Amino acid sequence: LPAQLRQVSSTIWELPVSFKEGMLVPVRIIASEPLLATMEAGVFDQAANVACLPGIVKYSYCMPDGHWGYGFPIGGVAAMNPATGVISPGGIGFDINCGMRLVLTNLTEQEVRPRLHKLVDLMFERIPTGVGCKGFVKCTRSEFRHVLEKGSRWCLEKGYATHDDLKMTEEQGSFSGADASTCSERAIERGVDQIGTLGSGNHYCEIQVARPENIFDQETARAFGITIPNQVVIMFHCGSRGLGHQVATDYLQTFLRVMTKKYGITVRDRELACAPFRSPEGQEYFSAMKCAVNMGFANRQVILHRLREVFSQVFRRSPEDLGMDMVYDVAHNTAKLETHRVDGKEKELLVHRKGATRSLGPHAPGLPACYKETGQPVIIGGSMETGSYLLAGNGGASDTFFTTAHGSGRTMSRHQAKKMTKGQKLLGEMEQRGIYVRTDSYGGLAEEAGFAYKDIDVVTAATEMADLSRRVVKLVPIGNIKG
Ligand code: 5GP
Ligand code: MN
Ligand code: MN
Repeated sequence: LPAQLRQVSSTIWELPVSFKEGMLVPVRIIASEPLLATMEAGVFDQAANVACLPGIVKYSYCMPDGHWGYGFPIGGVAAMNPATGVISPGGIGFDINCGMRLVLTNLTEQEVRPRLHKLVDLMFERIPTGVGCKGFVKCTRSEFRHVLEKGSRWCLEKGYATHDDLKMTEEQGSFSGADASTCSERAIERGVDQIGTLGSGNHYCEIQVARPENIFDQETARAFGITIPNQVVIMFHCGSRGLGHQVATDYLQTFLRVMTKKYGITVRDRELACAPFRSPEGQEYFSAMKCAVNMGFANRQVILHRLREVFSQVFRRSPEDLGMDMVYDVAHNTAKLETHRVDGKEKELLVHRKGATRSLGPHAPGLPACYKETGQPVIIGGSMETGSYLLAGNGGASDTFFTTAHGSGRTMSRHQAKKMTKGQKLLGEMEQRGIYVRTDSYGGLAEEAGFAYKDIDVVTAATEMADLSRRVVKLVPIGNIKG
C-alpha cells in the first residue's frame, strides 16, 4: 500500500494531492480493510492519474470492487465541471453501457429444476453468444440509426418492449441528444446485426434463486418484487457490443490527435486521452457515446424479449402469466450530466462511471415512483459460481455522486485464471453442484471461475458499511449461458 494512504473512516482511504505531481483533487478508495489489502498497486496509480484530469471535482473515486483497467481503474468514478473539464473514453470503457438487468418470474426453484436443462439449452439456442455473434433482428443501416437515437423507445415501437420495461430502466432506456451521424460507418457496420446478442467473456444470462435465508431486507425485497420463497429471477449482463467498442476506439484516436496540439492538455497516461467536454470533439464523442448507450439498452431489451419467448415456450404460459416483469436495468459504463450537491451548492457535473453503478437513494429525482421509498435497485454480479446481489441505493451515496460497486471485481488476470483450471472440468464441477452452464468457449469459461473474482459478500458488505447501497437479497445461480 502507498505510504501516503490515510484512513478517513472504516471504509474511506485517501491519497493526498502530494501523492503525485499534478493531482488536482485527492483520491478516495472505498473499501473495507481486507478489500484494501487485495487492491493492486496499479489501482492507486490509475486513480491518481485520473485525479490530474482537468475539471475534476472533489475526489477521484475507486469503488470496493476496483481493479486495474484501461486508463481509469475499473470501479473508477470521476465528476467533471462541464465548463472547464474533460470527457475521457477511458473513464467510460470500451463496452459503453455495459450493464445489468434483473427480471422476475413467479416460478419457484422447485418448479424450474425439472426443466432447467431444457430452459438453459433453449436460452443458449435463442440468445446468441460469442465474440462475433449476430442477432435475429434484421435491420438496415438507416433503421439502426433510429436504434442508436432512441434506445428502448425503438424497442417499444417495434413490439420488443412494454411501457413498464422502459419505466424500470435507467433514463427510461434512452439517453437524449444522441445523434447517429457522430458514429463512424465502421461503428454502424459492426453494430447493425448485433441487436439482441450477449457477446463474449464475462457477459452472461443467469437463472438465479432468491432463497429465504439470503434475504437481508424483507421489506425492500418485497418492494422489488421478491415475494415468494425460492423465487426464480433472471439476471443478465451485456453492453453495446461492437458498436460501443468502435465508438471508443474512434474517439480515443481523435482525442490523441487534438488533446495536446489543439487544446494544450497533457495526461499522465495515453490511455486517459480526453478532450474538453465543451469542445466540438468532446461533444461529438458525448453524442456517439449516447448512441452506444442506447444500443446497450436496446440490446438488453431485445434479449429480454427473447427470454420471455423462451420461458413462455418451456412453461407453456404467457410472459405476463409468468410474472416476467423487470426489477430494473442499470448501466455501469457511462458518462452523464447530472445535478449533484457539492459543498452545499447544486451543480451540474459530468459524472464518469467506469465499472461503477448509479445508486440513487430514497426520494432522489429520476427514480420510478414505486422505488421512491426504497431507493434505486442496484444489480451486481458476483461470479457464475458464487452468487450475485440485488442492493438498494442509500442516501450516503450522495458523497460518491450516487455511485456504488458493479460486481465483485477480478482478483487475477484472465490468463492466470486459465492456467488454474480447465473450462470443461469447471463445467462438470458446477453441474455437480446444481448449476447448469452452456458456453461457446471453454477457455473463456475457465477465465470466469469463481476464484478469479473477489468475494461478493465482502464487496457488498463494504458498500453497505460505506452507506452507498444496502444488501436486499443475495441471488444464487442455477443456470447460466456465458458468452
Ligand atoms: P465487468 O462489467 O467488469 O465486465 O463485470 C461485472 C461483474 O460481473 C464482474 O466483476 C463479476 O463480479 C460479475 N460476473 C462475471 N461473470 C459472471 C457470471 O457469469 N455470473 C455472475 N452472476 N456474475 C458474473
Ligand atoms: Mn461488458
Ligand atoms: Mn460490465
